[in-house]
Amino acid sequence: MTQTEPLAALQAQIAMIAKRSGRKVADINLIAISKTYGAAAIRPLIAAGQRLFGENRVQEAAAKWPELIAETPDVDLHLVGQLQSNKAEEAVALFSTIHSVDRSSLIAALGKAQQKLGKSPRCLLQVNIGNEDQKGGCAVADIPALLAEAKAAGLDMVGLMAVPPADTEAAPYFALLAKLARDHGLSELSMGMSADYEAAIMLGATYIRVGSAIFGARA
Ligand SMILES: *Cc1c(COP(=O)(O)O)cnc(C)c1O
Repeated sequence: MTQTEPLAALQAQIAMIAKRSGRKVADINLIAISKTYGAAAIRPLIAAGQRLFGENRVQEAAAKWPELIAETPDVDLHLVGQLQSNKAEEAVALFSTIHSVDRSSLIAALGKAQQKLGKSPRCLLQVNIGNEDQKGGCAVADIPALLAEAKAAGLDMVGLMAVPPADTEAAPYFALLAKLARDHGLSELSMGMSADYEAAIMLGATYIRVGSAIFGARA
């Protein structure tokens, strides 16, 4: 198997699922989650035409992506992992889109960083959709207040993101996230990973975040 066969197979799957669910394949954006993988694993995907990538840690992304972006300037890099407020400025500098906005202190830090750098990444509010302890994301009840704060801070809020609880059917959580996004007039829905992207697409995902199904199991 070549390094890009899993990507091609996944794209074919996405097209099939989109068709079955009456959605346009162009509305489903595949983020290749490259965390833990180095440039040698990423370059073949870029050569095959993949442009949208995601990382879950600012430090790791800052170490490997500037060189790759210099080689291919139209790469679009998204942050999908938890963000510490003290890394907000670095994140605004590096990423086009931040999927993990989830609390007041981070909103304030991102607002400041945007003003300083004169750059406004698109942002998604991460929701702790299964109401789990120790999980990133805001409570469902806090969505309206945080969206209002983010707007006041000048953030470009475009959607909602969630990681549903492990080891349980994801579809009901995806359906709830889709409803919440509709209720708040947000167009982007970041949901679905290697194990559950099919349900996510059927329920309206506009971004799916897929790592291991493209790169293989992480060490
Ligand atoms: C790692 C990660 C993914 C991708 O997970 P896979 O199961 O490897 O597809 C998606 N979203 C987030 C937030 C992640 O941290």
